[in-house]
Amino acid sequence: MEVETIIIKQLHKPDLLTALELLDRRMTLPYREKQHLSTLSKGFEGEILFDSLMESYLNSEQYLVLNDLSLVIGNTSIQIDSLIITSDTILLYEIKNYEGNYTDQASQFRTEYGQDIVSPADQLKRTTTVFKKLVNQWDSTFPIVSHVLFINNHFFLYEAKKDSPFLFLPQLNGHFTSINRKSFPLKARHHHLADRLLNECEKELPYQRKLPYYAFKDLKKGLCCSSCGSFDLKNSTKVSRCSSCGYTISLNAQILAEVRSFTFLFPKEQLTCNVMYEWCGGAFSKRRIRAALSTAYTVEGFAKSSHYVKKLEEGNDVSR
Ligand SMILES: [Zn+2]
Repeated sequence: MEVETIIIKQLHKPDLLTALELLDRRMTLPYREKQHLSTLSKGFEGEILFDSLMESYLNSEQYLVLNDLSLVIGNTSIQIDSLIITSDTILLYEIKNYEGNYTDQASQFRTEYGQDIVSPADQLKRTTTVFKKLVNQWDSTFPIVSHVLFINNHFFLYEAKKDSPFLFLPQLNGHFTSINRKSFPLKARHHHLADRLLNECEKELPYQRKLPYYAFKDLKKGLCCSSCGSFDLKNSTKVSRCSSCGYTISLNAQILAEVRSFTFLFPKEQLTCNVMYEWCGGAFSKRRIRAALSTAYTVEGFAKSSHYVKKLEEGNDVSR
């Protein structure tokens, strides 16, 4: 009998969100992307909150949790914010971090400013249908139960129906308590299902294709605070300190953070000392940049064609 506490797929900041954040600091994002950034960032905040609530309420060790699943089935792609496999059910969660007063009238979802938006219930129905199709191909017999969770404390829905798939933040404790009561140790078939889902979700579009056009020469150069995004950093002999938020970091770590931002935004460009010198706006000498690079990267090529590649053991990514 297998009893394990497993989060099979950890929540991690979506690459697209990281890239848009990095770009937003160094260029003026087009309106559409700026909106998208704000939506993604709000959504991610909601998922972090759900993750922590799940951890505190799900008291048993009998669940498999998969966060942030992008699945492609035929020509259709779906996104599942969180999925929990219990002994007898697959639970799907669509997490909405909406704020303010909304109305759910005749399946028309409306903001307090009178703007109609796609009903989360309809969206969930589509996701669930596609997901069912996928697992049915695998002869899975687990029932699927799906919910839209409104995770924001400052969200209110007028005319909500009792039979809607909606869950509200104050109901979450009770929801998880009832799951705890019904759950039994997991078997090999549960783990098998989780593995299949993981295998299935590697087909997502690369984030670069969803970004606006940008070029190295157009982006703002200089040191950027990893904590608040300010460019107002002061270097002393050992540390770099942000004048806006007080965040302090060793000079080496600051250089490596800049290197990670650069390689994240320009994954195909060669990483050289000169390019980092320019990226940092001349804030560090080339000698210092070379020294910092040598702690995490190895040099390849000679003289003018020399560039840096990541050492294998260094797995610290800016996005994680
Ligand atoms: Zn700062």
